[in-house]
Amino acid sequence: KGNSYNAIESPVVVFPNTILLISKISLCALLLSLRCWSYLGRRGGQQVISLQQRGCVHHGTVQHEVLHALGFHHEQNRGDRDSNVTIVTENISKGKEHNFRKVETNNLMTPYDYTSVMHYGRYAFSKDYGKLPTIIPKPDCNVQIGGARQMSRLDTVRVNRLYYCRGHLKK
Ligand SMILES: [Zn+2]
Repeated sequence: KGNSYNAIESPVVVFPNTILLISKISLCALLLSLRCWSYLGRRGGQQVISLQQRGCVHHGTVQHEVLHALGFHHEQNRGDRDSNVTIVTENISKGKEHNFRKVETNNLMTPYDYTSVMHYGRYAFSKDYGKLPTIIPKPDCNVQIGGARQMSRLDTVRVNRLYYCRGHLKK
């Protein structure tokens, strides 16, 4: 305790701009009644992150969109995802398959993380939500995925590593 904060457990402290960003986000959320989205990575100039007023403005959702803006993909799009989850293509709603494409991601030497705030849930874009899973963890299919309420420890580690923040050194 004291003033030796643990960066890993205090994501807001780890990237201090977030606080600023979040106050801007609230404004965005009020001004724009668009859906939840964010550009991936930097676009130059001021970054706009849009959050729907209803449904989006939760702690975890804000962090999720901020992580997109910081350059992070969804966890199940990772290049090594096939060793960790099975994507059940036939259960995906028609036209939504692109959400599951694989990306050659920079994983920053972190293992696949089911608890990432960037991980979709089991029934994401399912033809029949609750019945036909689109993502099944493996080898243990019962592992909880999606619905993270906040950044996981590894989410924070990645931000620290990518942006050479202080917490990066603490591991
Ligand atoms: Zn997303």
